[in-house]
Amino acid sequence: ATPTALMVGTGRSAKLGILIKNGEVLEAANTVKTVVFDKTGTITKGKPEVTDVLGDQQRVIQVAASLESASEHPLAAAILTAAKQQGITPQAVQEFEAVQGKGVRAQINGHEAVVGNEKLVDSEILSPEWAAQIAALQNEAKTVVVVILAHQLLGVIGIQDAPKPSSQAAIAALKQRGLQTVMLTGDNEGVARAIGQQVGIDQVIADVLPGDKATAIKELQKNGPVAFVGDGINDAPALTTADVGIAMGSGTDIAIESGGIVLVKNDLQDVVRALELSKKTFNRIK
Ligand code: ADP
Ligand code: MG
Repeated sequence: ATPTALMVGTGRSAKLGILIKNGEVLEAANTVKTVVFDKTGTITKGKPEVTDVLGDQQRVIQVAASLESASEHPLAAAILTAAKQQGITPQAVQEFEAVQGKGVRAQINGHEAVVGNEKLVDSEILSPEWAAQIAALQNEAKTVVVVILAHQLLGVIGIQDAPKPSSQAAIAALKQRGLQTVMLTGDNEGVARAIGQQVGIDQVIADVLPGDKATAIKELQKNGPVAFVGDGINDAPALTTADVGIAMGSGTDIAIESGGIVLVKNDLQDVVRALELSKKTFNRIK
């Protein structure tokens, strides 16, 4: 590859909002066999909204909002918006703790409160009735947040984060080019499968804890070079482990720093464009 050809390639792409950090990245993009996507904020809009509240609505939202006030997770923003819309004021919490890939924990008036997914719930407080209601929401592609106070399950919140309008077409275009497409997410299996089906992805790997995303990439690399597309703090190790790390421009600073390619417009169609550009550049100058 001549430096001039690479500069032509990257200069043209920059105008389209595809920032390519160097020639090696562009060259590696031409060898990719598998494209792996984070779910939240990458395949989906990353703007989750509360759609269902089961239990005493007022109390469930209040306890959840009290804990989520201290969280920066996109699910927290959805819960705080719902509280605001319903005129519910969060309470003060003590000893706040974020549990990566699971949820949040704190004390309210000396009682332990837990807000998060099933991994934070002791099986004895989850009745078969609740479990069935949770599964039903998850099969509708809703992320379920369980709200527990003083070891009692107060209720559950269903939160929907719809796919971006272009995700389905972008994934179809990648499959058409013979690439394997995979979703890698910390979210629950039921939700992940439902979203995966909506966008037509080949394979779904769910319930992956933040620290395990890079390990999952290494596993997929056994089938050839991998591109990983992500946006979150949690995605940084996967972005650097992948042969090509592609970060969303809307992502966290650490994700953007870890990516070899940055998509300014946050549009998954630009993943297709970046791979096409690589192919054109390297087939031309071979
Ligand atoms: P993703 O890989 O989809 O970007 P994360 O690793 O950030 O997801 O989170 C995985 C799961 O952990 C969420 O789907 C949710 O169930 C739970 N979770 C994480 N943080 C919170 C929070 N602040 N409130 C409620 N649930 C949370
Ligand atoms: Mg994400």
